[in-house]
Amino acid sequence: MGPGDKNCLTPEAMQALEQADVVVGYKTYINLILNLVADKKVVTNGMRAEVQRAQKAVEVAISGKRVAVVSSGDPGVYGMAGLVLEIAAGKVPVNVIPGVTAATAAAASLGAPLMHDFAVISLSDLLTPWETIVKRIMSAAMADFIIVLYNPKSNNRQQQLASAQEIILQYRRPKTPVGIVRSARRGEESKIITTLEVMLEHPVDMLSTVIIGSPQTKVENGYMITPRGYRF
Ligand code: SAH
Repeated sequence: MGPGDKNCLTPEAMQALEQADVVVGYKTYINLILNLVADKKVVTNGMRAEVQRAQKAVEVAISGKRVAVVSSGDPGVYGMAGLVLEIAAGKVPVNVIPGVTAATAAAASLGAPLMHDFAVISLSDLLTPWETIVKRIMSAAMADFIIVLYNPKSNNRQQQLASAQEIILQYRRPKTPVGIVRSARRGEESKIITTLEVMLEHPVDMLSTVIIGSPQTKVENGYMITPRGYRF
């Protein structure tokens, strides 16, 4: 479904919804596209019930119905695509439809911060050990990647963003530009461009994506830009 705004739902994804007999998805996401699924049978459930949701979708598909599984952003980026493919296990054909992921939606709102090599890291340690996440943040910081943080914070998980900042500060100057976008392309979008040293002063939650500049990233006229290296 892209980041949320229906203008960011691709025509291909829209077509898949139109052609579906049954739409399966996390309740919050289904609510965002409710007008598009008004005449469908809809199966929703809560957050963290991804396995049951995928099992249900596959079960309904095996029974002969055409099913659309809704994921936010791109379904193959921390989304439902992998799980559905694993659970379908070749028993029904699966068509993965690409979408606008939070990284590019947030980047567009900030300017052009992802013009060069970047690393996407989720700070959620629900399914990944924290030591692995630390190793990835450290490696990305050391290798000068622009760093995009998904799942930066949740109600139960407040400390990870501060730890990430501390690690990155070991490799990058305190004035490195940082962009925070909340609800990118989703109605009440808000964004802020700040710096690595004071980024924690700004509100961040699970609807936010944080982009930490590389050593080349700069802010010009209110836009965050990572030059690609063109001379002009
Ligand atoms: N499949 C999704 C990502 C799911 S992980 C995608 O491709 O975008 C969930 C995380 O994505 C959130 O914690 C947040 O960091 C980010 N995110 C999703 N939608 C967003 C939006 N509209 N604005 C800002 N960040 C968003």
